[in-house]
Amino acid sequence: MLKFQEAVKHVSGSAPISTCSETLIARRYVLQQKLGRGSFGTVYLVSDKKAKQGEELKVLKEISVGDLNPNETVEANLEAQLLSKLDHPAIVKFYASFVERESFCIITEYCEGRDLDCKIQEYKEAKKIFTESQIIEWFIQLLLGVNYMHERRILHRDLKAKNIFLKNNLLKIGDFGVSRLLMGSCDLATTFTGTPYYMSPEALKHQGYDTKSDIWSLGCILYEMCCLDHAFTGHNFLSVVLKIVEGNTPSLPDRYPNKLNTVLHSMLNKNPSLRPSATEILKIPYIDEQLQNVKCKFINMALKDKTFNCQKEAARIVNAVQKKVHLQTLRELSEVQKMTPRERMRLRKLNAADEKAKKLKQLAEEKYQENLKRMQELRSRNFQQLSIDVLHESDEQTSKHLIQSQPITALDYISIGHKEPSENETPGRLCMSEPVEHETSEEEEQREEENMEVSQTVSKTSQQDSDVKAMVRYLENVLNNSSLGEMMSLLQNK
Ligand code: ADP
Ligand code: MG
Repeated sequence: MLKFQEAVKHVSGSAPISTCSETLIARRYVLQQKLGRGSFGTVYLVSDKKAKQGEELKVLKEISVGDLNPNETVEANLEAQLLSKLDHPAIVKFYASFVERESFCIITEYCEGRDLDCKIQEYKEAKKIFTESQIIEWFIQLLLGVNYMHERRILHRDLKAKNIFLKNNLLKIGDFGVSRLLMGSCDLATTFTGTPYYMSPEALKHQGYDTKSDIWSLGCILYEMCCLDHAFTGHNFLSVVLKIVEGNTPSLPDRYPNKLNTVLHSMLNKNPSLRPSATEILKIPYIDEQLQNVKCKFINMALKDKTFNCQKEAARIVNAVQKKVHLQTLRELSEVQKMTPRERMRLRKLNAADEKAKKLKQLAEEKYQENLKRMQELRSRNFQQLSIDVLHESDEQTSKHLIQSQPITALDYISIGHKEPSENETPGRLCMSEPVEHETSEEEEQREEENMEVSQTVSKTSQQDSDVKAMVRYLENVLNNSSLGEMMSLLQNK
């Protein structure tokens, strides 16, 4: 069989490639046109005769790897099977792979919008810049895609603008996992004839490559989307390498939010262990907020124009974003699915207890404010009463009586030997220390009752500070008793 390039030449002659409908590859693909040449080999647009209507256009990558031994072929095919199972809207879909003569062929999704590098060049030449919302939207898509693959322990190893494609203005990362596919069959170092622009310091220093090295490259892409220029530039290969390894971390222009610049700086940390993972970046509040916006935008997009052909893609992105937004809940959900019915019942109870605790907390806060107000009122009333009494009575008897008529505060309880609320008392009884017995008039009794009510909720009312502390203790108790207790028993029973 002829190599594809030869086949194209042979069949087409001077005729356009699109007319070469007779040349079948792997009994189903027909060459349409050459899309370009990359570091791995030549790329063609093909039509899949076995595909559903409307899904025929695909990409064939012909990778020349020399003679593959049978073991390597098996390994590469196993790896390819794994890749073909992956499905994410921000990843170029990998359909199949096969070996034809000395070429390893990969069939992937076709992205009609060309690559991000072309788009950046186009904008640069037209002296245009991408809008901030466009950059954030694309960055979120890339993050979701990288996160999806990293969660499955698949590295890209060659993330760059040229490997990111546009399809209906959505970004898709190409060649994810492809380098691993070829690992056994050729020396990767010789495969990378390309640029060092996106390479991490550790990769350049041969200190290993991991997910954090992909994060570095993604940081370089974020910078490039914002500035239409590489993050690390130089006149030659060595000067670029030196900048990456030793140079300062570049910053975004002032027109971009500080928070985005902080994210960029964390991704371009020279120490890979200090770089955040894709999951961690997605959890940064600023990014999480953008994630919600992107979700809303895509939902609207899908709703607005039902005939718009990116609707399906948008729906898939919404799905992916939704998954991310609720990742924690989803993780918990998968945990829930593993639970026995009894454990699920406990979890339901725990959630109900959490709700109850929330309501109790709110109620307690309201009560506290109410009591504080009443306390202040009582204090001022007593103060007035005291002034009047002082004016009209002066003998020892009445002054003794007066002392007794003063409101008994929680501080008094302590000073006159009453116990402080102990930790093991239940919240309802927390402050129910009994007042000192003493003779009282009817009016005093009433006042006493009012004071009792106050002291039932707040133990130390004399100082705002201790009031707050008491409140915190009270709330802690409420929360501990309901949800935490349940949670502990749930964990212990697991
Ligand atoms: P590189 O080695 O630089 O990553 P590739 O081999 O991935 O290059 O791609 C070579 C050319 O083919 C590029 O111009 C790219 O735009 C185009 N191409 C690659 N994959 C696709 C695709 N899935 N859809 C459309 N064009 C593609
Ligand atoms: Mg590529």
